[in-house]
Amino acid sequence: MFSDVLIIGGGAAGICAAIAARKKARENGIDDKGFSIIVLERNPRPGAKIRISGGGKCNVTHRGTVEELIVKGFHRETEQRFLRYSFYSFSNQDVRDLLGRHDVRTVARVDGKVFPATGIAGDVIRAFEKELKKSAVEVFTGERAVSAEKKSGVFRVLTEKTVFRAERLILATGGVSYPQTGTTGDGLKIASGFGHTIKKPLAALAPIYLKPAPFSMLAGVSLRGVGLTVRAEKKRVSRIGELLITHKGISGPACLSLSREAAELFEAADKVEVMIDFLPDISSEALKKLFLELVSNQGGQTVRKFLRMQDSIPSAFIPFIMQQAGVDPEEKWGNLTKKARLSLEHTLQNYVFGVVKAIPLDAGEVSAGGVMLKEVNRRTQESRRCENLFLCGELLDYTGEIGGFNLQAAFSTGWLAGSSLSISRYRNKPADLF
Ligand SMILES: Cc1cc2nc3c(=O)[nH]c(=O)nc-3n(C[C@H](O)[C@H](O)[C@H](O)COP(=O)(O)OP(=O)(O)OC[C@H]3O[C@@H](n4cnc5c(N)ncnc54)[C@H](O)[C@@H]3O)c2cc1C
Repeated sequence: MFSDVLIIGGGAAGICAAIAARKKARENGIDDKGFSIIVLERNPRPGAKIRISGGGKCNVTHRGTVEELIVKGFHRETEQRFLRYSFYSFSNQDVRDLLGRHDVRTVARVDGKVFPATGIAGDVIRAFEKELKKSAVEVFTGERAVSAEKKSGVFRVLTEKTVFRAERLILATGGVSYPQTGTTGDGLKIASGFGHTIKKPLAALAPIYLKPAPFSMLAGVSLRGVGLTVRAEKKRVSRIGELLITHKGISGPACLSLSREAAELFEAADKVEVMIDFLPDISSEALKKLFLELVSNQGGQTVRKFLRMQDSIPSAFIPFIMQQAGVDPEEKWGNLTKKARLSLEHTLQNYVFGVVKAIPLDAGEVSAGGVMLKEVNRRTQESRRCENLFLCGELLDYTGEIGGFNLQAAFSTGWLAGSSLSISRYRNKPADLF
């Protein structure tokens, strides 16, 4: 089967690439019959990850200017630079407008996350399916691409059942997390076959498993406004936010945000410690001063009472903090030795919660790593290794924060890939199809 454009992967990036390619072809005066666009999707339906995103509610993008999105959503400058062009090509407003044209109204929450007003991810998929139909895109479902090569300017892609040939190939196969949704890294192998360097995929936006696992009485406890730090040898990375204690370790926004850096440290070091700062808003000097005041003015009060008054210290944690500090829970400020006071100060801001046991790649909302950004032209998404090969979406080595940034990056890079194809009215079909 021959097509002008073949897209492997019917997720957020692949769908947008197909829609944008049709838009460009029509703008260039090419009628739909004269320019075929095929999407190969191994699942029975496109958009499996969109369906489960945001807990089924689909946090489709984030509110703000493009610059705000880039800075808030992506920590690394290389990623910000790489994504800027695509975000301007197809912005958060463009996503909302596209959905709106199919009667899917979107709403922004106070935290900036944008969802379909119905809170149903399926509505987003239905809107994209309608747009694909309007764009005369053929979607072949149940077709898993297993290999691809290029000869005499033509790409030849083998699926488990068919041979597809095309002049332009777009790889949009996603990352490697949640492999049950179809993302098992096929696209990375295909990209590597075209000469791309693949940065080893690591977990991101993932829970962190600890050893020893937290005591069962702490599982389910949530901490607000705490500092979370991972430390290996001299390197340490921190976040402030909400943390959730699980049976196996930690999760929650601060953990998910930190997990990519934690996974990188864990990859390189034998031992990565996880620490909690229960009082991140107070400097260690200010805490020292406060404790001295408590010793002088509240000598009859127990240390436990002070800890119970802190919003960021759940009472279930108090015995563990006291034990790590080596301080009796019923100790009164007036009786606290200098050594115990210093130990308590230190423990409250550097509580060692455990050592990283694993950061599961398959349980992350996304995977970090993938095709190296420097091998892809950020203004077109075209491969710098192979002409007419385009790469987009989570397959690339970028990772966004929680908040709709990852779907937006997939939509934007997919759109840019589709609209960057060289589509001219005057062209020859390759004669020599291999
Ligand atoms: C549980 C969960 C919740 C999430 N929630 C959000 C959220 O609320 N907001 C947000 O912004 N991001 C969220 N994300 C992340 C977001 O879904 C992804 O980053 C985004 O979908 C990536 O888009 P993509 O098109 O690059 O890849 P995908 O959406 O993964 O699409 C890739 C497609 O390629 C197909 N494919 C793979 N290999 C082949 C092959 N060999 N042949 C044919 N087809 C193939 C796959 O089946 C898949 O459909 C979430 C992720 C998960 C796992």
